[in-house]
Amino acid sequence: MSLIYMSESHRSNSEDAFIISIQSHPNDYQVTAKRWMKTKQNSEKVSWIGLDLQSVGKVGTKGNFNSPFLTSMNEKISNFLRENFVEDTRPPLITFTPITEEQLCKEAAPINIYSKGCFHQQNEMLYRVFKTDARLVRSILDCAGFVSTDCHDWNIMWVGSSGQNYLYEGLNEFQKINHFPNSFELTRKDKMYININAQATNYGKEDYNFIPETFLLPEQYNDFYAAFHRNKGSMWIHKPNGSSQGKGIFLVSSPNDIPLNTACVVSKYISNPLLINELKFDIRIYVLVSSFDPLRIYIYDEGLARFASEIYNPVNINNRFSHLTNYSVNKKNEKFIQNKDWRQDNIGHKWSLAALNTELETMGIDTVLLWTKIYDIIIKSIISIEPLVLDSLRNLSVKRNNCFDLFGFDVLIDSNLKPWLLEVNLSPSMATDSPLDLHIKSNLISDTFNLIGVRAFDRKKETVNKVKARIKARQIQLARDRKKIGDQSFSFIKESNQGKSEEIIKEALEEYERRGNFLRIYPSKGCDHYERFFSGIRPNNKILFKFLYNDLWEENYNLPLKTVIKEVPLSKVIHVTEENESINFDELMIEYILRLSHALNVLTEDCLKQEWKLNIEYFVNHQYWGSPLKNLQTINQKIEDRATELRKKGFDNKKMPVIKALSAIRLEIMLRNTAKNVQLDLINSLFVDDKVGILSDIIKWLSNKAQKFSLVGRKKSKEDNSSTNHAGSFSPIPSFRNYSTAGKKSAFLNGRNLGRRTFNVNNSSHC
Ligand code: ADP
Repeated sequence: MSLIYMSESHRSNSEDAFIISIQSHPNDYQVTAKRWMKTKQNSEKVSWIGLDLQSVGKVGTKGNFNSPFLTSMNEKISNFLRENFVEDTRPPLITFTPITEEQLCKEAAPINIYSKGCFHQQNEMLYRVFKTDARLVRSILDCAGFVSTDCHDWNIMWVGSSGQNYLYEGLNEFQKINHFPNSFELTRKDKMYININAQATNYGKEDYNFIPETFLLPEQYNDFYAAFHRNKGSMWIHKPNGSSQGKGIFLVSSPNDIPLNTACVVSKYISNPLLINELKFDIRIYVLVSSFDPLRIYIYDEGLARFASEIYNPVNINNRFSHLTNYSVNKKNEKFIQNKDWRQDNIGHKWSLAALNTELETMGIDTVLLWTKIYDIIIKSIISIEPLVLDSLRNLSVKRNNCFDLFGFDVLIDSNLKPWLLEVNLSPSMATDSPLDLHIKSNLISDTFNLIGVRAFDRKKETVNKVKARIKARQIQLARDRKKIGDQSFSFIKESNQGKSEEIIKEALEEYERRGNFLRIYPSKGCDHYERFFSGIRPNNKILFKFLYNDLWEENYNLPLKTVIKEVPLSKVIHVTEENESINFDELMIEYILRLSHALNVLTEDCLKQEWKLNIEYFVNHQYWGSPLKNLQTINQKIEDRATELRKKGFDNKKMPVIKALSAIRLEIMLRNTAKNVQLDLINSLFVDDKVGILSDIIKWLSNKAQKFSLVGRKKSKEDNSSTNHAGSFSPIPSFRNYSTAGKKSAFLNGRNLGRRTFNVNNSSHC
């Protein structure tokens, strides 16, 4: 039984709350624990920006997660394909089915020698398994009618390690290989750290703080040594770079424990894992990337929760059965209980995700929010290697659909319900030691092959020229389809790119139809939030997103897709409440202006920095407002006038408590994310140097002033301390208000219209 401990002095700080395990089960504790979870998760939910699970689906639901959005989307895609792409000149698709224990092949894999030649074998459907045994994969391919080959003319290639360049040479459009070149950039422990850390440096630690602090040894030994001594009493974990299955892993209590002759990583040990039945566990999530350009990421509906086989004891650091959750480690423990029946998926030390969800929900945990955060981690980590993969695809001239990757993401949840990415596996284990393993993995592999779309390709007949001829015929076919649909359907795509864009959309829709038990998390509604983490603009991602999640599609819910799709700016969707309402730009703006007005109220004219004045002046005179303001107003009056104008538009009162709970910084981020066209220019005018929003800048400045002020001996008035704080999470404002003699505002700005925004930044302030 897990309970939450909150130290008396830190009840407001969730970082200080953690779950402990005790033997007795008093109801009071259970209720307190659940209440704590709920409060914590509710506040996180309010400020969540990013994916909306209602439009993606939740894993571990056995396909039973059906939101109205998903249902309608699925129907629209099926209708669109049925109506618009009837004729198909491609070789037929092969269907794969999961296998039973009896169908598992008994023979070992063929030897690991690779012949680069093509032998023009009789059989149309050939596969090659290389550097792995892959018994389950081979069995599924055998059952689908494939034959193993030694050479390069395979239809499917399954490699156990990262692919060598020669494997990608001269592939035809129907060959499929199970790794993208360079995908090891995510799956090697050291590389993962380097790539995710680079994203944190480029886009902010706030967004990339989901891997534990890590050092690469021996190079960063001195930094590690310093961090070790800075964090007194912290635990670290040592992992060799290229290893797996818990090999060479141990907990570190002193820098002297670390051998310096091998390349390894040392990561901060997450010492407060969420426990179930007093046991530590981690989650194995299967993630399929079927394309990097455009990016298409799927997550499998089922996966595994893997438990340590001995009670979690942070003190005894040498007990691997308590600290490591690897199956390969724990199966050696005599206490390990193997699953015997896949239907009883919460028995023993390996559970299904469905069983895990049920248990977490009984603990009071909001699994929708938890999974949303996990999806977020997955998308962000894949984006971290995207430019590297695209580069090598280009260099090797590999076709868009030749590669796929089925990654195994290992995630640990801590007692604050924060998911941590521990590692990503390039070739997740397909061992089937238990009925549960076989059930999940067999479905996973057959669904993977179905999704990527393997076609019966007769290489004897299909010479290179014939392939070219077929591509040409397909283009003609598409042109004919386009005529049939009416040119309007793709009118949002630039004429020169139309053929390719249609292919991209068609591929994505067809693939979605074959998704089986996969949920597509990218592209998905709300995924445009992640655009800023890419190293540049990705036109193919944009095309697909616009087609799928375009405003017009949503608004014209019942219209077929072939109605006009105009070029519209990408909408930003924000998950706000349980009812999944989204807050719009105007609603956020009203709150923002009110807070700004309140902050300005506590400042005297000579306290205003020049750059603030210029920004605000530009803002109130922006073309967004239409009519100009009277020149002689004070800046605060102008702001209030603009707020009144917005209020006249009418807004949803229900949403205001949610908006009021947002911090100033969050409000600024959301404003930027929801803004379109002219609104974006408007809100950008309120950003100093394009980075810090003016409200948070003023708050920070006031806060510093107030601190200095309190240091020189002014006492805070009790009355002021209890006053409502409208300016966001900014407590020192009220005490500062007395000091700054609010109300002394004068018409210090004469309302000159700046026209073009030329900032003559003068950071000095008179105060
Ligand atoms: P391997 O590739 O050998 O499985 P992992 O990085 O997955 O290596 O680590 C093995 C196990 O060690 C994990 O399943 C987890 O239980 C534990 N572990 C790894 N890193 C941490 C960490 N930073 N904090 C807590 N536990 C960890």
